[in-house]
Amino acid sequence: MDLRPMAVRVLLEHLQRLPGIGPRTARSLADHLLTVEPAQVAGLAEALARLHERVRLCSVCSMLTEGDPCPVCTDPGRDRTAILVVETPTTVWSVEDTRQYHGLYHVLLGHLSPLHGVGPDDLTIDALLERCRSGGIAEVILATDPTVEGETTAVYIARRLEGSGITVSRPASGIPVGGELAAVDHLTLAQALQSRRRV
Ligand SMILES: [Zn+2]
Repeated sequence: MDLRPMAVRVLLEHLQRLPGIGPRTARSLADHLLTVEPAQVAGLAEALARLHERVRLCSVCSMLTEGDPCPVCTDPGRDRTAILVVETPTTVWSVEDTRQYHGLYHVLLGHLSPLHGVGPDDLTIDALLERCRSGGIAEVILATDPTVEGETTAVYIARRLEGSGITVSRPASGIPVGGELAAVDHLTLAQALQSRRRV
């Protein structure tokens, strides 16, 4: 019989739902958590509990933030003439890690996918266009993922910005087709951002 107390079994269930964690890893994590100082486990529990309580989407750019608007949207030191558009909030972190970009961001919260019923209204495209219309924007960099859906989304946004006078560009090659931008190494991402092409 399974001698593990219910609390341990519940923990194992939760751990196994995390990506990359199978039953064996879950068991060794649980074993570890049972041997460390209770305060350490309490710290982890608090961090997990605060995740969704404190982190929200910026009402301007939709990146994940604790304060609204986010630190980028409120930073007077950023280049406020450029907006870099990505699909997911975590991609912003990868781009920022390259230290090659100093403008503003806009997170679409997904990509266009007619097959899955995802249209422009399901993304933050209108909010992006509104930001562009409000003036002061000279360049929009469409850094959607190099997938069919990402490309489709970039083309759609580029069309919507036609005639706006705003330069629309796309990070250059170097990013593997079909890959996710957030998973690309810093150097490749930095180079792709530097040598972007107009669309
Ligand atoms: Zn923001």
